[in-house]
Amino acid sequence: MRVALFDIDGTLYPRGCLLTERLDRRITEFVAEHLGLDIEAADSLRSRTLRAHGSTLRGLIALHGVDPDVYYGFLSAVDPRDYLRPDERLRAMLGRITARVAAFTNAPRGHAWGVLEALGVAGAFERVYTIEETGYRGKPDPAAYEGALHALGVDDATKVTMVEDTRRFLAPARDLGMSTVLVGGVAHGDRADDVVIDAIHRLPDAVPWLFEPA
Ligand SMILES: [Mg+2]
Repeated sequence: MRVALFDIDGTLYPRGCLLTERLDRRITEFVAEHLGLDIEAADSLRSRTLRAHGSTLRGLIALHGVDPDVYYGFLSAVDPRDYLRPDERLRAMLGRITARVAAFTNAPRGHAWGVLEALGVAGAFERVYTIEETGYRGKPDPAAYEGALHALGVDDATKVTMVEDTRRFLAPARDLGMSTVLVGGVAHGDRADDVVIDAIHRLPDAVPWLFEPA
């Protein structure tokens, strides 16, 4: 059976919304508080860490021995339910998918389910594979993708379509044989293997096979 494997943040709701801004701010506040920096210095260190290590958390673990549970505990003060509203159109679309529906996110469990509940789509997902389960490595570490497939009991990655808003997180999925959809991106001639859509609601036009009778 086919599998639709969704990223959550920036994919099921657009980036640039209040939730994204609030989380960004909270991460900077964590860096400031934890390392004793002012907000401006923390913001700059955060940008450098993100570029060098692929995620702020990985950099904070490597360079400063930050405990992921402390980091995510700090971020959990931001409740997605305060920033997102139910998306009936998204709920209806997910309900029409005939493939299995699962999520694979670099967010922790509490945040991931909080977003799905706030959007009113939690019931559509049979499994949400979160950062804890990857040993805090997450995307784009190839082991995280293999772990997600294993957790879903999928032994043929070509059955999986990964839907994601971060382009560099799609390459490892393609390398394993998954088909890929980039949400909110711009098509590049040299990356014709990515299907690109401007918003998640366009999914049925882009990948009709997820909606066909199984
Ligand atoms: Mg994302």
